[in-house]
Amino acid sequence: VQRNPGESEFHQAVKETLDSLVPVLEKYPEFAHQKMIERICEPERQIIFRVPWTDDKNQVHINRGFRVEFNSALGPYKGGLRFHPSVYLGIIKFLGFEQIFKNALTGLPIGGGKGGADFNPKGKSDAEIMRFCQSFMTELYRHIGEHTDVPAGDIGVGGREIGYLFGQYKRITNRYEAGTITGKGLDWGGSLVRREATGYGSAFFAREMLRTRKDTIEGKRCVVSGSGNVSIYTIEKIHELGGKVVACSDSNGYIFHEKGIDLAVLKQLKEVERKRIKDYLLFHKDARYVEKGSIWDVPCQLALPSATQNEISGKSAALLVKNGCIAVCEGANMPTTPAGIRVFQEANILFAPGKAANAGGVATSTLEMMQNASRDSWTFEYTEDKLAKIMTGIHNLCYEKAEEFGSPGNYMKGANIAGFIRVANAMLAMGVI
Ligand code: NDP
Repeated sequence: VQRNPGESEFHQAVKETLDSLVPVLEKYPEFAHQKMIERICEPERQIIFRVPWTDDKNQVHINRGFRVEFNSALGPYKGGLRFHPSVYLGIIKFLGFEQIFKNALTGLPIGGGKGGADFNPKGKSDAEIMRFCQSFMTELYRHIGEHTDVPAGDIGVGGREIGYLFGQYKRITNRYEAGTITGKGLDWGGSLVRREATGYGSAFFAREMLRTRKDTIEGKRCVVSGSGNVSIYTIEKIHELGGKVVACSDSNGYIFHEKGIDLAVLKQLKEVERKRIKDYLLFHKDARYVEKGSIWDVPCQLALPSATQNEISGKSAALLVKNGCIAVCEGANMPTTPAGIRVFQEANILFAPGKAANAGGVATSTLEMMQNASRDSWTFEYTEDKLAKIMTGIHNLCYEKAEEFGSPGNYMKGANIAGFIRVANAMLAMGVI
């Protein structure tokens, strides 16, 4: 805390991880001798830069850009870019720290990093978004590359922004280095299933967790917070697997629709028209919109928080449990507060931490890099099958590690332990780096 003052989300992420690692340090004393904890908590490199841009009225704005290159023991830094007004170093470091363990869990050769800017894309014109992305990349390009650091999307950065970022990268470097950025369009180096991957992966993880209790998603009443990339494709896969999602949200409020969320309407509103969730009412008069309400008031059996960090408080968690929730699967990064996690664990319900449950996005980004490197493109079915196998693999690894280290059924401990051991062993093998 003294070393990184004011970075509360980073402190929270580190504490949650380190709390799990006590039995690991007992079993492998060399990790403590070699100061693996201290080393892993210190990013390899942190870049902070000015992003000046001009709006449509010719006013100049200055934002702050970040890229935290946290750990490259397993491969090039890999992690998304977030454009949101709340972004500051503490958020990017928390996300980068989580990313190290998440990427290790996938079993793929990728290190951990994260970046972004305190830029608010809401209400900006296409041309403004483009100028901002171009300015952002004019600094970032010198730090990234397919063997160095490979950014992707996150909150506020989707296919449109990736296009502008890649276009500027290509222009400055004069290199069509497709593997430098992932989440690209299908006509220019993107991979099928990347758009769907985080949401689908989260639903696959929920399916595997329920399987351990001889249960399925079929017929389950579900709530998915948010209405962005992760949420939309979580809803799509949950519906395919026979569940019913009755509520979703944005930062202004939530929609409740007893018949089940109409995904075609949601996609049209959010992906095409970039509108607010309350406009769902224009299509479905029998739905209900609750302005500023907490979506976790809606009773459900399966909760999939897929919007942002710390969206489930201790109080919301207690209400979810009281209302009959049997499983929580985190599509977002760190959406449950420490108090909320305690409630879920005490109630002995299934709880999947984001670093395991939402790893399908980065895993499929790595499948995109593989296709770029081999100048190949795979079918939807083949790529989805690979994603499903990776998610089952992550699930089983977390499950087994939790059991091996004396906390059966605790996916959070299993994920932290499995991810840490893989990264720490690689760092150990490479000497004091
Ligand atoms: P999007 O920008 O596509 O969507 C974010 C959604 O969450 C929007 O509905 C947004 O509402 C809502 N939201 C964002 N911030 C807040 C806030 N402070 N309070 C309430 N609601 C908020 O982002 P993604 O779907 O890509 O990301 C969602 C989460 O998933 C994040 O935690 C991200 O880190 C994580 N994640 C994403 C991956 C990916 O592949 N995209 C991979 C792994 C994790 P509004 O429009 O009103 O802001």
